[in-house]
Amino acid sequence: MKQVNAYAANQAGGKLQKFQYELKQLGSEQVDIKVHYCGICHSDLSMLNNEWGRTEFPFVPGHEIVGEISAVGAEVKNLKVGDMVGLGWFSESCMYCNQCMGGDHHLCGDTEETIVGRHGGFADSVRSHWSWAIPLPKNIDAAKAGPLLCGGITVFNPIIMAGVQPTDRVGVIGIGGLGHIALKFLQKWGCEVVAFSSSPDKEAQILEMGAHRVINSRDSTQLESIAGSLDFIINTTNVTLDWDAYLTTLNKKGRLHNVGAVLEPMAIPAFSLIGGEKSVAGSPLGSPALTRTMLDFCVRHDIYPTVEIFDLDNVNQAMQHLEDGKARYRVVLKVT
Ligand code: NAP
Ligand code: ZN
Repeated sequence: MKQVNAYAANQAGGKLQKFQYELKQLGSEQVDIKVHYCGICHSDLSMLNNEWGRTEFPFVPGHEIVGEISAVGAEVKNLKVGDMVGLGWFSESCMYCNQCMGGDHHLCGDTEETIVGRHGGFADSVRSHWSWAIPLPKNIDAAKAGPLLCGGITVFNPIIMAGVQPTDRVGVIGIGGLGHIALKFLQKWGCEVVAFSSSPDKEAQILEMGAHRVINSRDSTQLESIAGSLDFIINTTNVTLDWDAYLTTLNKKGRLHNVGAVLEPMAIPAFSLIGGEKSVAGSPLGSPALTRTMLDFCVRHDIYPTVEIFDLDNVNQAMQHLEDGKARYRVVLKVT
């Protein structure tokens, strides 16, 4: 039995309080990770507030984890105690379905999610299957790498899926945790990048992070000024925007790719897609292999999220900071 020291909420919207729990014997394919840092994703907040109706209490958030392997099961071949790894939203997949066998472990029907029905990374230890404990490249900045394990791969995967070219004009809606990483990726990709933001005070930083132009995400008239110009748009907001106006900004064959957990159904007029062969898509994170590729890309190009670091003991202030829309641009907890 191993005791874990964590922070948990006992009810929807409740404060996080010190909480201890016991881990059973380590499975043969599992690893334990001593958590060093853990980013705070908006999904942690949505789960804390039970916005998706799937939170189990006591609830320990945290799925942008960087840490050190502290124990390995007997069948684990690729990791040893002391190795630095990252863990994101998924912590297990079946390893035998067609998706897993095809390398799309994130599409497995039996994935285990790090903060759903089990306890996450706002804790000194977290457990996962070896396949989702992603080995970190040497030389990576561990204090800033956590948000790449959820926010980063969630915006990197669509760039690969959509086959975004360096010559493309692209857009990012919502410049928060996910959106600001998307800007940095797309700038290094070589694209012309339009940022759609509702926060005028972010504009100077958004331009510094690689956007060529900033447009008010809630102003349909401003959207009209770039009609027909974008090959790819990624939405990272979870609110209802004028989706038809965004479809109008797409070039022929353009794609509006949604990763934000938009709570209301999105209104997509059929004729806004049909005439220009446009598409609307979505995706959850990405595979373990693509996550490794992304981390190498980040080290090569020195791409890191812009982070604000809080001590784990200040976790409630950190959550409030995110909820108030004040995070610039990702909050990371220093754990051990
Ligand atoms: P975040 O840091 O809070 O950023 C969201 C951004 O959305 C804000 O910074 C803001 O950008 C914009 N926004 C917020 N309220 C708005 C409003 N009323 N009108 C217009 N824009 C608004 O959140 P995040 O951590 O990046 O997560 C974003 C979403 O992705 C969440 O829904 C999260 O659950 C989801 N998510 C999905 C996946 C997946 O696998 N698909 C993975 C991770 C997260 P501006 O200030 O620039 O307007
Ligand atoms: Zn997340």
